[in-house]
Amino acid sequence: MRISEIDMVSPKTLDDCLTVLSDSTQDVRLLAGGTDAVVRLKEGHWRPALWVNIKGVKELRYIREEEDGIHIGPLTTHTDIVHSSLLQEKADVLVHAASEVGATHIRNMGTIGGNLGTASPAGDTIPPLYVLDAVIELSSVNGKRKVAIEDFFNGPGKTVQQKTELISNIIIRPQSANEIGIFEKLGPRKAQAISIVDVAISLKMSTNERECLGGKIAFGSVAPTIIRAHKCESILKLQALDDEAIENLATIAWKEVAPISDLRATAGYRRDMASSLLARGLHRLMMRWDNR
Ligand SMILES: Cc1cc2nc3c(=O)[nH]c(=O)nc-3n(C[C@H](O)[C@H](O)[C@H](O)COP(=O)(O)OP(=O)(O)OC[C@H]3O[C@@H](n4cnc5c(N)ncnc54)[C@H](O)[C@@H]3O)c2cc1C
Repeated sequence: MRISEIDMVSPKTLDDCLTVLSDSTQDVRLLAGGTDAVVRLKEGHWRPALWVNIKGVKELRYIREEEDGIHIGPLTTHTDIVHSSLLQEKADVLVHAASEVGATHIRNMGTIGGNLGTASPAGDTIPPLYVLDAVIELSSVNGKRKVAIEDFFNGPGKTVQQKTELISNIIIRPQSANEIGIFEKLGPRKAQAISIVDVAISLKMSTNERECLGGKIAFGSVAPTIIRAHKCESILKLQALDDEAIENLATIAWKEVAPISDLRATAGYRRDMASSLLARGLHRLMMRWDNR
């Protein structure tokens, strides 16, 4: 199949887009920035009868704070996220992750909705969405429904989204003033690389030196979907994050993750790196907290 033979429609409004999705009896797939889609198409995967190009649906590109949290439109690019002063202030962990996606042109084209839609366990924006308690809003002609991020993925490349639905909004919890976050990633090279392992950390700190009131930790690329490190999280509470505590947390993380071996890394290497990335992230966070 030549690229010129592809059937595509390009609705300009969300309503038109939902109508196309609901009317279509064919196998359809949405196209946002196309950075994953074009690669999959060229590889011979993702050959739907119809592509629904949503790039021109301007109403799906925004970042704004509302009463129930920060709303991010699915067509928001990684570059939009990196440059958002609202997210820099209230979702630093997501900003760090977006800045790690591919290289500049991928961040300019690729969207947060597309990162979720691909549903890779290596999707960089997904672990931050776990620690920010994200809610994914799905829309169809029949209305909207909200799904907690932890219930959104069924496995690699699989989500609970129905064929007639699209991701229309992503709602995250704004970080509080005493909350700091970081995203650490290990890729095969500095840029353009999918994660071998990554971790998102968000900590609430007390006014006491380095005392942690609690926090959330999510690992990517160590299981079929992103996982929360609940055992690590349970011992974060009410302890000073000194070198010994961080070492202990890293050891617990080593046991808690359950990676597989694949072309990019062995399970053992991933386990070691998950533990090291957590320690590195916590050390960096504490240095930032000391210098605030
Ligand atoms: C060279 C290169 C480097 C890369 N590096 C990274 C990296 O470091 N980290 C990383 O995480 N990713 C990386 N990627 C993958 C890709 O750039 C990201 O996943 C990006 O966020 C995808 O967004 P997109 O808008 O281009 O998605 P598209 O390719 O347009 O779509 C991807 C999938 O999402 C679905 N989709 C799109 N929008 C919606 C929506 N609103 N609702 C429901 N489903 C939707 C599509 O139907 C499709 O299945 C890289 C890709 C390339 C080519």
